[in-house]
Amino acid sequence: MSDNMYSKFLKLVILVFLLVNLAKAQNKTDFFVEKPFQVPSYLLNNAEKLAKNLAKDQDVLDEKEAEEMYKNSFYILKERVNTGELYFSNELTDYLTKIVDDLLLNEGSLKGKIRVFLTRNPQANAFCLPDGTILVNVGLLNILENESQLAGILSHEITHYKKHHALNQRKKNKDLKDQKYSNTSSEGVLFKMLSYSRENEFESDAGAVNILNGGKYNAAEYPNALKFLMEEQKDTLKGSLSDFFNTDVFTVDTAIVSKKNIKKELNKSVSRSKSLLKLGDVEYETHPDGEKRILAVKEILTSIEYKEPAKLDNTEFANLKRKAEFETVENAYLEGEYITALLLSLKLKEKNPTSETAEVMIVKNLFWLSRLKENGVMNDFLGKVEVNKSADMARLKLFFDKTKAPDLGKFLFTYTKKQLERFPENESIAFYVAAAAELHLGKDAALVFYKKYNSKFPIGNYSVYIKNKID
Ligand SMILES: [Zn+2]
Repeated sequence: MSDNMYSKFLKLVILVFLLVNLAKAQNKTDFFVEKPFQVPSYLLNNAEKLAKNLAKDQDVLDEKEAEEMYKNSFYILKERVNTGELYFSNELTDYLTKIVDDLLLNEGSLKGKIRVFLTRNPQANAFCLPDGTILVNVGLLNILENESQLAGILSHEITHYKKHHALNQRKKNKDLKDQKYSNTSSEGVLFKMLSYSRENEFESDAGAVNILNGGKYNAAEYPNALKFLMEEQKDTLKGSLSDFFNTDVFTVDTAIVSKKNIKKELNKSVSRSKSLLKLGDVEYETHPDGEKRILAVKEILTSIEYKEPAKLDNTEFANLKRKAEFETVENAYLEGEYITALLLSLKLKEKNPTSETAEVMIVKNLFWLSRLKENGVMNDFLGKVEVNKSADMARLKLFFDKTKAPDLGKFLFTYTKKQLERFPENESIAFYVAAAAELHLGKDAALVFYKKYNSKFPIGNYSVYIKNKID
């Protein structure tokens, strides 16, 4: 990395760190605690030198060709670092590293060649770059139930590396030969790089069982992990929008979110595969091979000498999963994906009914959505929201599309006020009540609430902003 690039990179790290920590200052136990500036040394490598060394170490491709591929893959990784997409070191990154170390205990030849990084991506997925870097999206934790399932997914990714699938795939796809890395198409390069054949997927599934069996993890959990990855919606909302949104003065118009309308919305949605182009390892999607892969793994499990390990304590996994769920919502919010973030925060509320953090998240997302409506840009915004076969997404999309701006404002204001009654000491909610008042009732009405905030939280996160408003 050049000095100039490095200082730019550090600035970004600082910015992301500050932003995220500002948002989390109030509720430490719900989020990961990120240790600052612990950039893993692997990421500070020189791309050319690294690619050269790796290319010498393989015999699938012509050395020059392999070098090009490794270089691309390393650039993609660094790009993700530069955009702040990776977490550097928190309790989940440590945990993932520990699992990978456990899995490699009997894989002597892979020692020191595999490393794992955690991304902020809310999509449940993981993938392995050709250089042995495994990227795990924080959203993966949301759909898994235990450590063995996570270890299973990691073993699958390890096998992709172990069997040189990326290199073999490159050898097959000669159309990739002249694919050079460029800033604009890195996602496309990544996608092509990791479009493994079905044989590769079956082989990685078998390899995963092989790595798991006989170790501390339960290989019989692997097909469950695959099943969860392939299911479209594991946990949908149990409650209706009326259960969540009705206040004393606002009632959700149920005609808007009728079954018929939801069905129409779902039919409109583009096929899911399209949106997955940007996500990396594509095998987990609504793939026709999904069912077959699960069956194949189950067959393998009955044909091998399956060793059931001692039961693992699930406390650490459960604790990290809970934090990952909160992180995922916050990440979706910071990305401006308010509908997704709202849906996830409603799910969090169902799971943690008394959680203040979940409520703050609901309030924040409702506020920004109402603001989009008030500013007349809701249509543009919703046009980009992918429903992805989720009836819950369709329901929320319809609600914000069809509820008129004044009604939405009324809803936002009364809803946030109701939440402040539940959590009178919560600074964020106090702020959003004032902001909602400004949006719905105008500046003068909002002043009352801004002043209330400032007398209660004289040195709060929003004090400076509010002082400027009042003066
Ligand atoms: Zn795979």
